[in-house]
This record gives sequence, structure tokens and C-alpha cells, in this order.
Amino acid sequence: MKKEVGIFYINRSNLLYKSKVEYADFCINHVEGCSHGCRFPCYAFNMAKRFGKVKSYEEWCKPKLVKNSLRLLDKEIPKYKNQIKFVHLCFTTDPFMYKQPEISEMTLKIIEKLNQNNIKCTVLTKGIYPRDLTEIKKYGRNNEYGITIVSLNESFRKIFEPNSSNYLARIKALKKLHDFGLRTWVSMEPYPTPNLVKQDLLKILREISFVDNIIFGKLNYNVKSSSFIDNKDFYEEQARIVEKFCKIKRIKYHIKYGTKKTDNFSTSTILGKPLVSFQTIKEDKLIVA
Ligand code: SF4
Repeated sequence: MKKEVGIFYINRSNLLYKSKVEYADFCINHVEGCSHGCRFPCYAFNMAKRFGKVKSYEEWCKPKLVKNSLRLLDKEIPKYKNQIKFVHLCFTTDPFMYKQPEISEMTLKIIEKLNQNNIKCTVLTKGIYPRDLTEIKKYGRNNEYGITIVSLNESFRKIFEPNSSNYLARIKALKKLHDFGLRTWVSMEPYPTPNLVKQDLLKILREISFVDNIIFGKLNYNVKSSSFIDNKDFYEEQARIVEKFCKIKRIKYHIKYGTKKTDNFSTSTILGKPLVSFQTIKEDKLIVA
């Protein structure tokens, strides 16, 4: 493992894989670790620790960028191209990790390479989206850009996702992409129970009401949240609020399995709408990069 200025680098032997997450297809995690250091807890950190990839929380918070990502994609795209509906970045790290410019730079190159091969991306971050993504001739306009928002309470964020971007800045950067005509979404997962933070879900929903899709899910693996006496009723009620709000605002939504008492399987295809050919976009004279 090499350290160049500010960040660690590693090489890997593969990158693209088929995800088991209910709303996903293929996925890329081109970083090991994540400086956001979430304490919900972070499932990816728990798994990395269990399988011996990292020894401690401190080590997890020092991300290692996969330096040969683009070379791996050159080999893997032709191999998987016919099977891929869309590629998600990322499930076990953050593609636009806050204050990690080397990671953002690599993520942009990965999205560009996938898009140039007519593969659309869904992206999820707790960081700030760069304006570069509005360069339609480079990235296309089929990608779906998402942020995670589970609160607007900055005191809560500083405890549970200490090194992520602040909530309003995150929303503002997403809104810029929306205003540019790009598809946007919000993952409201893991949504905390009231014994972790008292908040009004509707107030959060109003802040993000410009997005195309919302995914809502409960908080798992947190002892305090699980012991919340009305846990099941609470999530049932919050999921209903999301459903009602989305129906009124005509936002597509999916409630993650296990959040409500009865799951709706038909909404899990919420992301990854069919691709408009990248060639069509390149030739679209109306779009200014
Ligand atoms: S942003 Fe995601 S991957 Fe990073 S620490 Fe938080 S939960 Fe884990």
C-alpha cells in the first residue's frame, strides 16, 4: 500500500460486481474505507472488520483509493456490458467523500468511462456533488445522483456521520444538479428512531421535495434504536408519511424491505430507468457543457 500526498493507494484484481441490494444492479466500490466515519453503525465497516480488511475504526477512516480502477474497467466493461442495466457507486464507501479530492477525481473518471460505454450510473454520497457533472458531453444526463439525508439536525450529524458534509450544503449541491435537469434522488436510510433524535420527518421531506425518487429505510444493527419500545409502529407510521408525501408530490418511492410490517416488492425497480443513447446526447445541440 502506497501513500502519495494525502491519501493511500492500493491495487485490486477486480472492480465490477453484481450487487445483492434490492434496488441495485452492478456496483463499484473503488475505495476501501471511508473518512465519513459513520457510527449508525456503518455496515461496510463492520464487514471490513469482521473479514480482517481493517483492524480499527481509525484505520477505516483512512481511505485507500484503488489506483488501477480505470485499467480494471477497461477489462471488465467488455466482459459484463451485456448484463449491466446500470452501475451503482457505491455501497461500501463514498464516491464523493467530503474533502477527499483525489477520490472525487477518480469517481468522475469512472462515471465518464461508464457513460462513454453507454452504461448509466446511480450515485450515492454524503459529500458534495461537483458541478463537473453538468458537463453533459462528458457524463451524459442519464445518471441518477443521490444523497443520503436522515436528519437536518447538525448535532445529530456530528455524532453519527462526523466527517460528512453538512446536510444543507449536501442538499444544495444536489439541487444544482436537479436545476440543471439531471435526475436526483434521496436515500433516507438508516432513518433514526426518536430516542436517537427527535425530529419531524415532513420537515426533512419538504427540504428534498425537488427530487425524482426517495428510498426510505429503517435503522438496523443499532442497539438503542432496536430497543425503542415502539420501533415497529414508529417505522410503519414514518413509512406511511413518506408514501403519502411522495404520492402528493408525484415522487417515486421505495420503502426498504423490513421497514414496514408488509413489504411492497413492486417498487424496488425505482432506480435505473432505461438509458437514452449516449450518442443521442452527444449530438444534442441544445445542451451546452
Ligand atoms: S458514508 Fe457510508 S461507507 Fe462511509 S462511513 Fe458512512 S455509512 Fe460507511
